[in-house]
Amino acid sequence: MARLTQADLADLNTSFEQTSPQDLIRWARKTFHGRIAALTSMQRAGNVVCHMLYELKADMPVLFVDTGVLFHETLDTRDKLVERYGLNVVTLDPELTMEEQTAKYGVLYLDPEGQRKCCFMRKNEPLIRVADQYDAFISSLRRSDGGARSRVPVLSLDAETNSVRINPLVNFDDEQMERYITDNDIHINPLHSQGYATIGCNRCTTPVLPTEPKRAGRWRHLGPWSQYCGINPTDLLNPAEISIDLPLELIDRILGRSTDFMI
Ligand code: SF4
Repeated sequence: MARLTQADLADLNTSFEQTSPQDLIRWARKTFHGRIAALTSMQRAGNVVCHMLYELKADMPVLFVDTGVLFHETLDTRDKLVERYGLNVVTLDPELTMEEQTAKYGVLYLDPEGQRKCCFMRKNEPLIRVADQYDAFISSLRRSDGGARSRVPVLSLDAETNSVRINPLVNFDDEQMERYITDNDIHINPLHSQGYATIGCNRCTTPVLPTEPKRAGRWRHLGPWSQYCGINPTDLLNPAEISIDLPLELIDRILGRSTDFMI
């Protein structure tokens, strides 16, 4: 095993700034073949990525974490995408149902510390449990969403799952998104048109006013400091401080180099 840091990815990230989302997905599939999955929460951008996977015939699992307290519209969206595109959506569940968790720990999501614990158990842990099957995950973060996402790199690292995150839509702005959705008649979670700019668990998500930031509806009851859960590491951590361990041969493949040791 060898260490891969965010600094190692700097040149690649610079060259990827001009690369189309479809070409980034092609590169990711080829580089991590057999050990890559897409991650989606069935929001607008995730559905665009799912459609691209379908169009490119980029055969890979699509992981979807069902916290057990999602809106039924989100579960319906998952089912519609499977029906339309024949995707291999793998639904990951928390170890405890919300009822079991509440009986054991109480209602966690009503204060910041409990929210972190609840999000970790219901979102992060299900992914961590399958992480050893993968070296990379395709996500759908966009800089246009602002906040912590405004500087997200194309490639980032996730120490918790020891994986590379690929964000093919980082440079897709709102106009490009809407055009892609219309041109390809992509099914969108109906909650988006009911004022929900982003969509998470039904306990912790509200619509937003047109004048509010897109993520103002997440954990609104906890205040504006709590807009991210941590399932996307770059939301809460400085990407430059994250590193992971991968086989040297894979790091060479990612960086497009070959390592020769002279004795
Ligand atoms: S969003 Fe709320 S209900 Fe969902 S996992 Fe996080 S704290 Fe729990």
